[in-house]
Order: sequence, then structure tokens, then C-alpha cells
Amino acid sequence: MKALVYEGPKKVSVVEVADAKIEQPTDVLIEVSTTNICGSDLHMYEGRTSVEKGKVLGHETMGTVLEVGSAVYAIRVGDLVCLPFNIGCGFCANCERGLTGFCLTANPGSAGAAYGFAGMGPYSGGQAEFLRVPFGDFNCLKLPEDAKNRQNDYVMLSDVFPTGWHATRLAGLKPGDSIVIYGAGPVGLMAALSAQLQGASKVMVVDSKQDRLKLAEGMGAIGVDQSEGDVVGRILDETDGMGASCGCEAVGYQCSDRHGHEVPNLTMNNLVKSVAATGGIGVVGVFLPQDPGAKDAMAKEGAIAFDIGEMWFKGQKIATGQANVKAYNRQLCALIEAGRAKPSQIVSHELPLKQAVEAYKNFDERVPGWTKVVLKPAA
Ligand code: NAD
Ligand code: ZN
Repeated sequence: MKALVYEGPKKVSVVEVADAKIEQPTDVLIEVSTTNICGSDLHMYEGRTSVEKGKVLGHETMGTVLEVGSAVYAIRVGDLVCLPFNIGCGFCANCERGLTGFCLTANPGSAGAAYGFAGMGPYSGGQAEFLRVPFGDFNCLKLPEDAKNRQNDYVMLSDVFPTGWHATRLAGLKPGDSIVIYGAGPVGLMAALSAQLQGASKVMVVDSKQDRLKLAEGMGAIGVDQSEGDVVGRILDETDGMGASCGCEAVGYQCSDRHGHEVPNLTMNNLVKSVAATGGIGVVGVFLPQDPGAKDAMAKEGAIAFDIGEMWFKGQKIATGQANVKAYNRQLCALIEAGRAKPSQIVSHELPLKQAVEAYKNFDERVPGWTKVVLKPAA
């Protein structure tokens, strides 16, 4: 089958690899119809993770079931399904509690597994013609009738829509609250959409990319352009000097200042300053325990200089981590089906798999207009 593989920093290729196949009786095999490139793929693409060469990337995938293992009960050949980026077993202590981003079975010795991802187990990714889905009954979300023609909406259930939603839940957003979101990439934009759906009174989104801020404004949010400086001051101005009721981090360890220089503690400290006393901060942007490619010794060890004093004094709460996609995807699917949410509004490019290499380059360079790429392997 054809698949996109990692070959080294800033080098990916679409090559022929061994076909994905059923390996366990609980597996499902799907023919991929839509698969996205994610900001998380860029950490790997840029050589800022331990991902091994030759790994098939991709964790935002939907497709049609081609074959089911002998122990698969509910999923049938021909079903159109969307896969959470996390692989959960469904029966470990964490999956039982809905914390499928921290499955204890799928990646032994660690908590959490995913397709095509550094440090998340041996699983191949979905930027390919076919994908093996472990624990198929648990992981496949069967999509409604209209999904065949609305794939660019439903594929967002694999990651960015639930992850944006998760960011707002980690932040403890309540109806009527104001919220500040750092990052207007696909995840930050989906957090803005989620906040609107949950009745936020004011949604502020920070980024330096004009095209992405425009998309946020199209969702009714206030765009705060980092390139104009004093981000914190402007959030305080918008909130009577109090700070937002809560906030989200949707950038991660490669966050940068307005000149484009990486400053890994910038968004976290800005959140402490621009969220009100007792407010919650939800961190879905990725921070890694080791970052050998970082510029200073602290960041290489996954550490940042954090304003703990100010945070403590303000009595804020922080919650972090991978989104437990299964905890939300069925409900968010219903919002799409009912026409209440249209996550495809962030899609900028729909391309065949063979154009994935140029798509990675443009998305990585944040070329204006390259917000979210969906790939169609069958095209
Ligand atoms: P992206 O890289 O497209 O978007 C990040 C955005 O942040 C960019 O638009 C960039 O201009 C902006 N940015 C950089 N520095 C900033 C700063 N100081 N202040 C404000 N904005 C700043 O990526 P994405 O796909 O939106 O993903 C965002 C993050 O979420 C990544 O770290 C990704 O790995 C992570 N992620 C986490 C989960 C999860 O489950 N927790 C799931 C998906 C993605
Ligand atoms: Zn993703």
C-alpha cells in the first residue's frame, strides 16, 4: 500500500510499504477515505521527537471497514467509521473511567497509545491507503448516514474537535464565562468553536497568523494579534482588568514570541497573567519530557521557568494532557449530524495522498492559508 513515512527532519515521503492487515482477532481493517495532517505531526516532522525513521505517520483518520477479526462483535464490513487518535483497550483502569488517552494496555509500560506517533506504541499511522485498528469494537465510532458526503466534518472527530472541546473542559469553562485561547491553529480554533457551543460570553484567541485569527473571528471570537505586542494587556483590557474566567493552551512547547523565536514558557506564563484569580487553565498543547532539539539546557529536559508564585497567589488550577477522544466523540458527532457544529470550516486544502509531501512543507512553514489539510488516499 502507499503511505506517508517519516525519513528524517523535514523529510517525509509517500512510498510503498507492507499492507496493513488484521493481526489480532479483535482488530478491524479499514480503507482510509480521509486522513488529516495535524500540528502534532509537525513536532515529528521537524525532528523534535524520538520518532523512528520509516514510521507511517497520521492519527486523524476515517474510512470504510474492509475486514473484521474473528472476535469483533459490533463493527461490520462496509461500516463508515472514525477512529480516535488514541488507541484504547476499553477494559483497563483508565479506559474504564473514560481516560482513553492514558490506556494501560495498548502501549505496555506507558500510559497512552496512538497511531503513527512518537512514544505512543508500535502502531502505524493512517496517512496511508489502509489502517489496522486494534480493539476495533471499542475504537471505531460508526458514523451516521450523511457522513459519506460530509467527511471533512466527521473526520475532525478523530482529534481536533474533541481536543478543542477537552481544552475547554480542562479549563472548567461554564456558561457565561469568558475564555482566552492561546493558538489559532486547528486545535485552538476548535477550542473556540467548543467554547461558543458551551455558552461562553466572550472568546479571545491569540496568535500572530492573520489568516488563522480571521477564522477565529468568523466563529464570533475576538482575535488578539500577538505581532502587535502586549497580549496580556489587551486580554486584561477586554476583561475589566480581571483576566479571563479561564484559559486554554493550544500551542505547546514550540511556542514562540512575536518575532518567531521559540520561548517555551511564554504561553504558560501569559496564561497565568491573563486568567483571573481562581480560574482554570486547560493545556492541550503538547509539552514533552525530553526535547533534545531545544536551544537551552532546561528546555532539553522538558522544563520551563514557570510563574508558580503568581499562579499560587491567584489560586488558579491547571489541567493537562492528551484528549480522551472517546469521552466526547459520540456527542460531538450528534452536534455535527444535527447541523449545530461544522468543524470543516477550518479545512483549507483537500489533496490526494501523493501531494502530502508539499502539504507538510506548507503547513509546517505556516504559509498563509494553510490551516488544515485533509488527504484523500483513494483519490
Ligand atoms: P499548529 O501548529 O497548527 O497551531 C499552533 C498555533 O500556535 C500556530 O498558529 C502558531 O502561530 C501559534 N502560536 C505560536 N506561538 C504562540 C504564542 N506564543 N501565542 C499564541 N499563539 C502562538 O497546531 P495545532 O494542530 O493547532 O495543534 C496545537 C497543539 O496542540 C500542538 O502542540 C499539538 O501537538 C497539540 N495537540 C494536542 C492534542 C492533545 O490531545 N492534547 C491533540 C492534538 C494536537
Ligand atoms: Zn492530531
